[in-house]
Amino acid sequence: MSSTRSWKCYKCGREIVPGMRFTFTKNGAIHWECFRENVRDFFNGSVPEDVNVLMELMDYLNEGIIKLRELEVRAIVDDVKGTIVSRRKMLEGEAAKVMKDLEGLLDRYGAKY
Ligand SMILES: [Zn+2]
Repeated sequence: MSSTRSWKCYKCGREIVPGMRFTFTKNGAIHWECFRENVRDFFNGSVPEDVNVLMELMDYLNEGIIKLRELEVRAIVDDVKGTIVSRRKMLEGEAAKVMKDLEGLLDRYGAKY
């Protein structure tokens, strides 16, 4: 996924600029905060614990991805940079899988997000 491409958030309609947290659902690209708001709204504020757990796992993985991007910039030697890039891609793959699980769980509740 190229970082030069830009998307519009399907909730608020504003552009998703690089550095902003966002995710992809079956509905398209959405700011992470907008997604959380949709989930909170659907459950009227009492979000099931398993949904919270998966959202926190996403937070955790995303923090890791942000940290790895920072380390990537700081790395000087090519193979060190390469090792960090491959770990970042691994985490991005994991985040995408967790997002699928989260969507599956939300679908079971019939949630709109
Ligand atoms: Zn948004």
